[in-house]
This record gives sequence, structure tokens and C-alpha cells, in this order.
Amino acid sequence: MSGNPYPLGLRLAGRRVVVVGGGVVATRRVPALLDAGADVLLVAPELTPALRAHADAGRLRWQRRRFAADDLEDAWLVQVAVDDPGAAAAISAVADERRIFCVRADDRAAATAWTPAVTRQGPVTVAVLGGGDPRRSMAVRDAVRDLLAAGPGRLAPPPADADADAGEAPGPVHPTRRPGHVALVGAGPGDPELITVKGRRLLTEAEVVVTDRLVPGLLLDELGPEVELVDATKIPYGPARTQEEINRILVDRALAGRAVVRLKGGDPYVFGRGGEELLACAEAGVPVTVVPGVTSAIAAAAGAGVPVTHRAVAHEFTVVSGHVPPDSSASMVRWEHLAGLRGTLVILMGLKNLAAISATLVSHGRSAQTPAVVVQEGTTGAQRTIRSTLGVVAADVAAAGIRPPAVVVVGDVVGALDS
Ligand code: SAH
Repeated sequence: MSGNPYPLGLRLAGRRVVVVGGGVVATRRVPALLDAGADVLLVAPELTPALRAHADAGRLRWQRRRFAADDLEDAWLVQVAVDDPGAAAAISAVADERRIFCVRADDRAAATAWTPAVTRQGPVTVAVLGGGDPRRSMAVRDAVRDLLAAGPGRLAPPPADADADAGEAPGPVHPTRRPGHVALVGAGPGDPELITVKGRRLLTEAEVVVTDRLVPGLLLDELGPEVELVDATKIPYGPARTQEEINRILVDRALAGRAVVRLKGGDPYVFGRGGEELLACAEAGVPVTVVPGVTSAIAAAAGAGVPVTHRAVAHEFTVVSGHVPPDSSASMVRWEHLAGLRGTLVILMGLKNLAAISATLVSHGRSAQTPAVVVQEGTTGAQRTIRSTLGVVAADVAAAGIRPPAVVVVGDVVGALDS
């Protein structure tokens, strides 16, 4: 076969695609077909566990046998992922006869369609055909992916009123982002690599970024000079007014048609007031995307080598805020009940009240000997850790000069991975 390949974007939603074979090649091909909404018929005597899981969950139909010509009834596309060249040629012959495009893992020269190396960023899909050399197509794809991920604004989406002139069907260019939009993005616990892929993409597309104290500074380093950076820690007024002011900034900028990212340390909904910001936006009719983050409640412990659960050690972990003293009428935490739990207790914002908290836990029955670890600035280059026990942890923290942000982890998981 000669001639250059003719690229297309197949719209497979609800259309039958037949995949023949149940091994590693099929395992790699099926997820993109399902993502495209294809009606996948998988024909194979055996499946890998991952394919089996798709079949069990009803995401595709599985014919547990070898291929038969009638399997291509109603098919728009067939993917041949079998090892046996004779069988592959036979399937491909049936496809040819029925004018169905056929992708062949075993023999690309004999195939009527090729699968490209793909990278996606939000609504953009880039597909690369490497002229027969998969390493070349993957290398080009990786370079494009890095370019897309790299420069804020470098490949920014066109303004809402730009003509759709790329030969695509007209329609909203950025249905989820325009006009005006707020993304509440979890920045992760401290290590700038612990932001999610989605969070990072939205950050590179942002026109306004509103940050606070716990956001890893290195993430902000990468923002372009044209991005408006609002540092919420610099807003004057008191704490209550500050939150109102942040809400106002988010809403104002979004209503002005800008792409706003509200970056928050850890996860936006773990003691992060993300809910209040969402409600403020909703009230103003501003669309919001919430991007969860890696919370310090789990990651700081992990950074100190402590798993929040461990087989035969802890079957639960409880995350609690210690910012209100246990004996305060404003406390919403039943510390006396937490004292009766056997599992892991993770205390955020607890340094100031740690003496009262640990005394309350001990007086209600948690052993003073329970191991504890305190992790300051977990997952960052400045991480500090001290090991202690519940009875003396507050004194040890004071002696070591541990400062916020820090988490206190109490339970037998502390030390579970020590060898
Ligand atoms: N939304 C954040 C928590 C906000 S509350 C999250 O999901 O992680 C702020 C508290 O989080 C701090 O007082 C501290 O207890 C904890 N914290 C946040 N980042 C931390 C880090 N890198 N190391 C230790 N504790 C951290």
C-alpha cells in the first residue's frame, strides 16, 4: 500500500468497534475506545485481568471464543490484536470484504488504518503518525505534550469570539471555560510535583491565579508575566473579611470573562474553605470546576515514612482539625470518642492546642504510650520530623521548635514500616 495516510478524528460514540484478541495489545487499545464512547465488542477466548474488569463492569461486550466472520456485523472499525499472523490475515480479509477499516497490531503494512501516538490536553487531541516508526511518533508526541504543558499562555485557548476556522464543526471552543470560570485546584502538600495533571493544565491556562500560604512557591514560579497573581495572604482586613474579599475577587474576575484558578494547599475541601468559595461562585452564576488535590493529611505522613493505614495495624484513619481547644464551647469534635478509636488519628492545625488535645485523648483512654510523629512542611525540601509518644508529644514539639504547617499522626502505624 502506498500514499500518505489521511488523518481523521473518528467519532465513535455508540458505534460498534470490534477488538479481536484479549492480551496486552488489546488491553492498551480498549481504554481509548471506551473513552470515545465506542460500543466495543471484544472477541477472545481469554482476557487479561484489566480487560476482564471492563467486561465485568459492563463497559464492553465479551464474546468468549475465537473470531467468526459475523462478528463484524454492524462494525465501523476493527482492531486486530492477536499474535497468530494467519488468524490476523483472515480477520483482516473479512474486514476488507466488508469495507471496514482494520488496524493490525501484527502487520502494519497490511493494515488499512494506523493508530497514532496520542496526547490530550483538555479539549485538544494531538495524534502523531511516525511513518512506520513508533518510536519516532512517540518522541514527537512527547515533545508536543511537553510544549502543551510548558508555557503558560503559549498555546492559550482562543478568545470566546474567535472564529472556529480550523475546519472543525463550529461550536463553543472551550465549553467548560468560557465565558469566565473558576477552577478550585488542590496544589498538593508541598512538593510541586504533587499537583495533579489536571490541576497543572488549568494552571498553565489561567489568566488569574489566587494563591495562599500553603501553595508550593515553585508552582507559581512557572507562571508567565501576563498572569495576574493575587496573593490572598497579603489581603488586609481580618480573617473573616479576607475570605469575603477572596470570594469577591474570584467572582469579579470570572464575570469579567477570565480564566481564574484558585490554588489551595493540599485538597481544596480538606479544611480549605473550598466549599465557601464554590458557593460564592455558584450564587453569582460563575461556573466552577473542582480539582481535588493530594492532601497533607495523608501525604505528610507518607513523606515521613508513615502509612496512614497498614494491614493488621490500622483499619481506619481519622482526620481532625485541632484549631479549636477541646474544652472550648466552639469545639465541634468529640475528642472523648476519638480517644476510644484504635486506628490512626491525623491532626491538622493542631500545634497550638497539642498539649490540651493529647491530654484529653489520654484522659479518655488512649494510651500515653501510643506512638506519634509530627511532620513539619511535609514533602518539601524543608521537611522536619520528630517521633514521640502521645503522652509527651506536646513537650517534644516545643523542645524541638516545630512550627506550622505540621501534622501530628498518632497510632501504631507510626513505626509500622521501620525495619
Ligand atoms: N487543605 C489542606 C489543609 C489546610 S489546613 C490539605 O489538604 O492539606 C492547614 C493545615 O494543613 C496546616 O496547619 C497543617 O496541619 C497541614 N499542612 C498543610 N501542608 C502541610 C505540610 N506540607 N506538612 C505538614 N502539614 C501540612
